[in-house]
Amino acid sequence: MAVTTEKAPKTVPTAFEMAVQQLDTAAEILHLEPRLWARLRKPKRVVKVSIPFEDRDGNTHVLDGYRSYHNDWRGPTKGGIRFHPQVSEDEVTALAVWMTWKCAVMNLPYGGAKGGVVCDPSKFTLEDLERLTRRYTFELARFFGPHVDIPAPDVNTNQQTMAWIMDTYSILNGHTVTGVVTGKPIALGGSLGRKEATGFGCIMAVVRALEKLGWSNQGLTVVVQGFGNVGSYAALAAYRHDMKVVAVSDVNGGIFKDDGLNIPKLMEYVKENGTVLGFTDTDEITNEELLELKCDILIPAALEAQITRENAPNIKARMIAEAANGPVTPDADNILFENGIFQIPDILCNAGGVTVSYFEWVQNFYELRWSFEQVMEELERMMYESFDAVFEISQKRKLHMRTAAYLLALERVSEAGRLRGMFP
Ligand code: NAD
Repeated sequence: MAVTTEKAPKTVPTAFEMAVQQLDTAAEILHLEPRLWARLRKPKRVVKVSIPFEDRDGNTHVLDGYRSYHNDWRGPTKGGIRFHPQVSEDEVTALAVWMTWKCAVMNLPYGGAKGGVVCDPSKFTLEDLERLTRRYTFELARFFGPHVDIPAPDVNTNQQTMAWIMDTYSILNGHTVTGVVTGKPIALGGSLGRKEATGFGCIMAVVRALEKLGWSNQGLTVVVQGFGNVGSYAALAAYRHDMKVVAVSDVNGGIFKDDGLNIPKLMEYVKENGTVLGFTDTDEITNEELLELKCDILIPAALEAQITRENAPNIKARMIAEAANGPVTPDADNILFENGIFQIPDILCNAGGVTVSYFEWVQNFYELRWSFEQVMEELERMMYESFDAVFEISQKRKLHMRTAAYLLALERVSEAGRLRGMFP
């Protein structure tokens, strides 16, 4: 099939260009039918809304908000909502595409969507954030629903954001609808373990990779970029597995400690100070330096396109566990692969979050309350099962782990599309 994405002469592709490039690679290998392939290269629907609200000081803001729906062949769409200045139609659509593959890799009965609001939430009060979240929900409510589209937290959104969305949606519908969002507070039907799920799931994938690759797990060093929800819990799980987390960072910069950071203490410190910077007995490093540190496992857990063809040749990690979405660009993938660096692709590595979201959604329907242990046991089973399936494809066909994950996901999604047929 002819590739119609414009190839601009630049080193960093847009997130959506990356997503399409990755799809094309897998679709070519699978000899995917052109009609399914063409459909999957575009989102099903993208909604752009204006969000007017008045802040506490009486200033009026009109923010841009998006929700992009990529594909719903396997079930209702699922995906996070982020509040960030870099949010764009391109970015949310790429993230929606990745959600389609992620849900399919984990064999969850969902398609992919993603949303966001273009804003710097650090400039708003809690009351402002509540107003903008409720207005965003009001504008999109007709496209949400437990059988339609189920949002979840992402960058700069959290349990409280989900509670506001659930409440606004429930008011509009005249009754409480817990299953319309996941990642809710426990008191409103949230699942135990959801908060930890993405970071813990990432380390479950790392542990399985170590087993499969036959690497010793003695004295492994770990570096984590981003110390938010995902990065902090990935660091905590690594710490509990006796790995040495030597460096972590956030948007302000990074810290390094040769003999390993005490992650539980660091988490307390970040709660009080809002940054990792200034933690006792550490040296400061930049985010750029952090990515190039010599270590066993590098965990990018911040934003996309952090490892590009510029810095990929300098990466000294033996394994990259992609806790963030899209942290490695496709041309960097090739360089890392040639350099023998083992990658656990994002759609597998960070799928713990959506998997426990699925558990939450199921619990909401049946009014169940699973224990933390039950959630983690089931999560581990599903992470291992999916890891093994992807690893087997990559070994048998001598493919990059990302391509293998795409083949598995694309086979599942296209089978659903083939069976459903094209309307009209
Ligand atoms: P978060 O807002 O809780 O944390 C983001 C972290 O990244 C913060 O520490 C922030 O300071 C840091 N950061 C932001 N910009 C940075 C930059 N330019 N350089 C370095 N650090 C920077 O967000 P999160 O929920 O932890 O999400 C992190 C990544 O994981 C995103 O790519 C998100 O899409 C992905 N993800 C999240 C979940 C989830 O369950 N939250 C699930 C799957 C994937």
